[in-house]
This record gives sequence, structure tokens and C-alpha cells, in this order.
Amino acid sequence: MQFFAYRENVISSTWNRPAPEAPGPDERMDGIALGRRLRHLRKSKGLTLEELGAAVGTVPSQLSLIENGKREPKLGMLQSLAKALGVTIDALLGEAEPPSRRAALEIELERAQRGPLYESLGLPKVRISSRLPMDVLESLVGLQAELERRLNEQIATPEEARRANTELRMMMRERNNYFPEYERAAQEVLDSVGHTAGPLSQHVIADIAAHLGFSLHHVNDLPHSTRSVTDLKNKRIYLTQSQQSDHDPRSVLLQALGHYVLQHETPQSYGEFLSQRVATNYFAAALLLPEKATVEFLQRAKAAKEIAVEDIRDAFAVSYETAAHRFTNLATEHLGIPTHFQKVHKSGIVYKAYENDGVTFPADHTGAIEGQPICRYWTSREVFNVPDQFSAFNQYTDTPAGTYWCTARTERSSAGLFSLSIGVPYAHVKWFRGRETQERSKSTCPDPSCCRVPPQQLAAEWSGNAWPSARAHSHLLAALPPGAFPGVDETEVYSFLQAHSER
Ligand SMILES: [Zn+2]
Repeated sequence: MQFFAYRENVISSTWNRPAPEAPGPDERMDGIALGRRLRHLRKSKGLTLEELGAAVGTVPSQLSLIENGKREPKLGMLQSLAKALGVTIDALLGEAEPPSRRAALEIELERAQRGPLYESLGLPKVRISSRLPMDVLESLVGLQAELERRLNEQIATPEEARRANTELRMMMRERNNYFPEYERAAQEVLDSVGHTAGPLSQHVIADIAAHLGFSLHHVNDLPHSTRSVTDLKNKRIYLTQSQQSDHDPRSVLLQALGHYVLQHETPQSYGEFLSQRVATNYFAAALLLPEKATVEFLQRAKAAKEIAVEDIRDAFAVSYETAAHRFTNLATEHLGIPTHFQKVHKSGIVYKAYENDGVTFPADHTGAIEGQPICRYWTSREVFNVPDQFSAFNQYTDTPAGTYWCTARTERSSAGLFSLSIGVPYAHVKWFRGRETQERSKSTCPDPSCCRVPPQQLAAEWSGNAWPSARAHSHLLAALPPGAFPGVDETEVYSFLQAHSER
């Protein structure tokens, strides 16, 4: 593997590739099986295609199509054929007796050789005849079946993806979302370019790339499924020239470098792909908000009882999301504050979440919280109803797990309006700016009567009289495409690298 293609929002609509249009295996096999039986019966009667055709009133080419399994005969034709061959329709359809092992294998091989998988291998087709040895037949069919099984295994199902996400979140929670190994890696890189304080400028980041031996290339034809492409052969990093990205270009570059610094290998599973993504995100954040400087900043704020995510954002010139997320890395380890983080779409659906403070997120049967609706009385939802979208919105929320104080704000991206929030248990609110808020809310979720089912009076009025057409959350339900870098078009990436390395 000679490249890294980096994409953050892997769970997105581009993963929703349509399945190829093809008849189901059963349908296909029936036609093939019928054709083979027909040919066998015709030959055993010593009839040519012309002779049988004449007997049933059709042309030889039509009969040939049926024998090759490429056309399904109508019932009338089946009856004529059965009559002409002196067998019952059941015998012709193969329902009278099970096929022999050899016949079953021949049918199976025929089916496989005509399928899209075999087609994609570009191998010659084996002529299936009675001269094909039985062991060869067994082996070819066995190999096909195994190849198919392994490919199916590689396609991560949405359920597998959700499980992988859940496992990762559990691990992050166990470690209080603090990873000293990534902090160290980031610190070494900062030391190598002599960066000691202040926001990380584009210039310093270019120095970091150069120090690691990479040249940077801004292009206008970056493959659309990627945010950056790293050519490991020539040590080049390709980035987009477009200014329209939702992402901080510094983060994109730092994440690309992260794969190299953290010595990532091509991921072998969706779970590994996810954990590499977490690692490079962490690494990039640890460079933009270095541990030492950020902890000092937070400790001063804590001493003054003035902790605020906006201040972190402004001091280090990062996005609110990056600042809030970075807070979760350091809050428990260095400040002794358990916390939770949420990124929630305006529709109320969770995109990202983390907690180690006992707050109860909604979860599905696999334990996954991504894609679940958040209680409408939580700060992360109430913030959408606040007219002032430019200040932080703070609120106390009583929940069955205790009272939490949360601070939230909204940010717009190309995927829509999102709220970003962090929260802490009541006992820790004394360290935060905004604790004097009068906003208070009560949530009894996951009790359905909290906000999941409509109030009785409203239900009585409208139940049975509403037919909403649901907007599909395809990004969360779509089957994940196979490949080491899910959702990334490898052909596109290779062609891109080929074209650029020749320039
Ligand atoms: Zn609720």
C-alpha cells in the first residue's frame, strides 16, 4: 500500500452505493438447472435442437437459449417440451429427484462463472463438460464459494460499524479519553521544529511537514472521496486548493502527517480504521492545542472559576468543536473533572458523543449512540431554540442520572446545523463560566413519556390522521463499502497519484 487517503466523515451518503442489479442466485440457478436437464434429456433421446424444436413448434436458437439458461420457457412451452421428451413437468423442473452431486456442481460452477464476481476477476471461463474431472469441478466450485464468503465477510455491515464505534467509545471512556502516547508523539514533533507557544500557524505546520520529509502540493483535482492523499513513495501530501472545505486546513494536513508519525499500517478491519481515525484526530488536536500549554491555560481558568470552551477556542485559534473535544482529553486527567461531549444535528440525531461522567445517552441494542435521537429537553437540543446563536447557551438539566450543567453552541457546516456541547455533573459546575444561568430543564428519558411519545391530548387529536414521509438516515444505515479505506475510490486515488507523479 503506497498511499493514505484521509476522510473524516466516513459515515456519509457517499457510502450508500446501490447494489448491482442482478437476478438472485436462486432465480439464476433454476434457469441454468432447467437448461442443463433439458439438454441432458434431449441428448439421451438422441434428438438434435432442430428435431426437438420442430416437435414443440419453436426455432433451434430459442431452444438453445433455454438450454443455456438464458431464457425461461413459458408454462405452455414447458408442457410441450415435457410431452415431446416423454417426461413429467416435475422431472423437467428437477422436482422429481434431487440432482446428482456432479450435476449440482456443474450448475454451481455455471452460475459462478456467469456472476459479476467471476467477471471481475478477468479469468477465462472453464468449459463445463462431462470431460471435466470431478476433483477439478469440486475444487473450482469450492474456491468460488470461499472467495464469495470472504468478500462478504469484509463488507462491514452497519451493525458491525455500530459495534466497532461502541467498542471504541468504551475504550476511550476507560482511559478518560486521554492518550499519553499521542501526546508524546505530538510533543516530539513540536520540539523538532522549536514551537513553544502560541497558535500553530500554517507556516509552522509546513515546517513540520518538511521536517518529516514531506512536500506539500495544493491541487484542484483531489479525488472527491478524500480530504488529502499522501504519496508514501515520493513523500508528497496532496491537499485541496478549495477554500470551501468545512475543515480547518491545518487539521487536514496534521491528520495526514499523523498516519505517518503514528506508523499506521493499512487497516485490516473497520474497527482498526476507526481507531486510526481517532488517533490521527487526537494527534492533530494535540499539535494545535499542545498538552502543556493547554493544561496551564485550563488550570488558570479553573483557579479563576472561569473555564469556558470559547476561551480555549480563541487562545489557540481552533474551531469550537476542536476546543470542546480537546477539553475532554485533558479535563479528567489534569483537572479531575469528568465530562461529556456531544455533536448533535438539528434533527436531534447524535453524530458524535463521549462521556465519562455517568450521563445516560440514548443507545440502540448494540450499545451504539450515533444515530440515536437525544432528549429534546437536553441543552444540546434546547440550544437550537435560542434566538441568540452567537453566545454560549448554558442550562441545568435534571436527569434520572443526576443534574448536569451543559454549555452549547451551534455551528453550521455543509451537512447542516449542529450543536456542540460539553457538560459536567452538578458538583463540578463551580469551575465554569455560565454557572449562574437561570435556564433549567427536566428530562426523564429514556422513559418514553418524556419526549418520545406525543402528549395524550395531542395524540388523541391526531393519532391515525398523520402520514409523514420519513427522511431516510441513509448515512447511518447504508452498508459500508468494502476496501481498506472505506468510501475511498482506490482507482481514483491511484490514477490521481499516477498523473501527479508524472508531472
Ligand atoms: Zn426526553
